[in-house]
Amino acid sequence: MKISGWVFLVLGGIVIAASYLIKGLKLFVFVGMLFVIYGIGKLISGFIVKDDEKNDGKTARSDNYEELAAKELQESRCKRCRCIVMSYDHFCSGCGIRLR
Ligand SMILES: [Zn+2]
Repeated sequence: MKISGWVFLVLGGIVIAASYLIKGLKLFVFVGMLFVIYGIGKLISGFIVKDDEKNDGKTARSDNYEELAAKELQESRCKRCRCIVMSYDHFCSGCGIRLR
């Protein structure tokens, strides 16, 4: 995906050059400029994404912690009727037995 930025730059250059060579394609100059701007944007974002990947790794880990916490909540069941109860519940929602 690193090449895509350069591809857009080259494409933009070609489009601008073509629009200069062919008469009546002045609009394509703007299209070409958009391609070039998009290409530069992609190249810049490519450098930023590298840092984001590191951050994503951290957030992915924190998501795992949340999942584990959710699993613990889900797996806490009533001893009597086996219905799912939350760790903060004082009474079972299924049979009404006192949990704590
Ligand atoms: Zn129960």
